[in-house]
Amino acid sequence: MRVCKLLNPTLREAPAEAEIVSHKLLYRAGLIRKVASGMYTYLPLGWRVIKKIEQIVREEMDGAGGQELMMPIIQPAEIWQETGRWDVYGPEMFRLQDRHGRFFCLGPTHEEIITDLVRSEVRSYKALPLLLYQMQNKYRDERRPRFGLMRGREFIMKDLYSFDRGQEEGAASYRLMYKAYERVFRRCGLSFRAVEADPGAIGGTGGTHEFMVLADAGEAAVVFCPACEYGANVERAECGESADCGERVSGVPTCEEFVTVGTDGAALKTLSEVADFCGCSPGDMVKSLVYQADDKGVLVLIRGDLDVNEVKLANVLADKWGRVPDVSLAAPEMVTKLFGCEAGSLGPVGVPQGVFVVADPTVMAMVEASCGANRFGRHLRHVVPGRDFVPDVVGDVRLVGGGDLCPRCGMPLKEARGIEVGQVFNLGVKYSEKLGATYLDEQGKEHPCYMGCYGIGVSRTMAAAVEQNYDENGIVWPMAIAPYQCVVVPVNIKDEAVYRVAEGLYQELGEAGVEAVLDDRDERPGVKFKDADLVGYPLRITVGQKALVDGQVELMERRGGEMERVEVGDVVDVVRERIRVMMAAG
Ligand code: ATP
Ligand code: MG
Repeated sequence: MRVCKLLNPTLREAPAEAEIVSHKLLYRAGLIRKVASGMYTYLPLGWRVIKKIEQIVREEMDGAGGQELMMPIIQPAEIWQETGRWDVYGPEMFRLQDRHGRFFCLGPTHEEIITDLVRSEVRSYKALPLLLYQMQNKYRDERRPRFGLMRGREFIMKDLYSFDRGQEEGAASYRLMYKAYERVFRRCGLSFRAVEADPGAIGGTGGTHEFMVLADAGEAAVVFCPACEYGANVERAECGESADCGERVSGVPTCEEFVTVGTDGAALKTLSEVADFCGCSPGDMVKSLVYQADDKGVLVLIRGDLDVNEVKLANVLADKWGRVPDVSLAAPEMVTKLFGCEAGSLGPVGVPQGVFVVADPTVMAMVEASCGANRFGRHLRHVVPGRDFVPDVVGDVRLVGGGDLCPRCGMPLKEARGIEVGQVFNLGVKYSEKLGATYLDEQGKEHPCYMGCYGIGVSRTMAAAVEQNYDENGIVWPMAIAPYQCVVVPVNIKDEAVYRVAEGLYQELGEAGVEAVLDDRDERPGVKFKDADLVGYPLRITVGQKALVDGQVELMERRGGEMERVEVGDVVDVVRERIRVMMAAG
């Protein structure tokens, strides 16, 4: 490709709305342009990156036994009504009507369509396991489309669905995909962690892992153990017990109320103010928080030095109530209405009727605690959990962070930001039962297919790659997903002899299978170098006067920026070898 003809509009400035590096650089390097909020055109260089990521994904999916197919983007409402998700999906789903008034949606995902296909076309156990996938645009009317390709409303996803005979076979497909995902992201040259995740709305009975590219721009917080394999999204993370909760003793005096009003007559508000007042530490107190779960008031108890994880809380309530409630901290008016006091004086003793009480195990492990008395400016001391109050349910609702102990091996966990580039789900029979996707076993007995689903955000992966690979001059593409592997820059195209060498090298490289561009623009070398750095070609060959004098050109790696002189006649071999090494290194 000749740069003169290449649609590659580079810019000095990024659009004002671009907050993160990948958004800025993909825009400035002329790889993407915005069409509407969360919708982008991939320009030729951007599209080449997408194609390369897709190809790596395709090879790994095929290698794992996947079969590629293509389903429609527009999906009829009826099939979503069958699983109940037409109503559950909410405003994220783009809905439309045809000329006959029938409802459709733009596919946010394809569990319904694929399960419908399998229920019609698969009969026998002999067809299983069946792994079907596609690469396609997905549509989600995100509440906050932002960060360029990171959170789009139209984005490219690879989605694979597995159909198996049972849990054991399903687990094997899951492992197969997990391994394939590791290879995909390794081949893309990314540094990532697979972490345990919360299944969220998609549900399913088995586990789920998210593949997180570690980068500061990540929207998710993850913890991982530096010593063992454990890693988890903080929404889900568990931790080991820090063994500081002492022996349970008898003989704790009966609990007593005391006044917690400051010298100004105002009630002490924060937990640490009360702890200071009592001369104890926050860890000796019970933190009591009121949440609204759907329309119900829930009092949540946790040790005073810890915080509550709302996703885990919703899951604890879901186990008890049989549905996942919407959970948020209750408004002050709701707290006063339920308890007759302000948030700073809440506690687990004498909870009003109708309020559901959830206690974290850290509270139940406390020997003797202080807490609010549910009266203005009053607290209780010598409170013994189990003796002085009994919660409706004890469940792990603790927000785990860096420094907490690994639940597997006890080492302190590390915390990092992560970009979710892929997720694998063990779905079980949730969709196959609802839609009747069954198979007949050897005895002719009918069973629901055991399912899994596995997504990779192809366009998000492109953005994530930039978040991990850039410097002050622009993108530094990993070789495997670079738009082109190499740029040939004649320093002055008006010097015919120089240009001829550059042109010759460009041709030779192309014939040798190297993806090269020739910067044939009549621009100063500085302009060309700047653009080459901004776009991030992994290799640059500069052809100047020296090529004529002593037959040498300059070869530079974008990463590291080291320059090397190479004989014109050796360029193709040297470049090919360099590509081989850089591909292997990721
Ligand atoms: P998120 O939590 O980031 O909203 P999700 O868990 O809803 O994502 P999945 O349904 O698991 O997403 O989709 C599979 C993959 O598709 C994700 O791992 C992610 O890489 C990508 N993806 C999801 N939503 C978007 C989006 N709005 N823009 C770009 N990529 C996305
Ligand atoms: Mg996900």
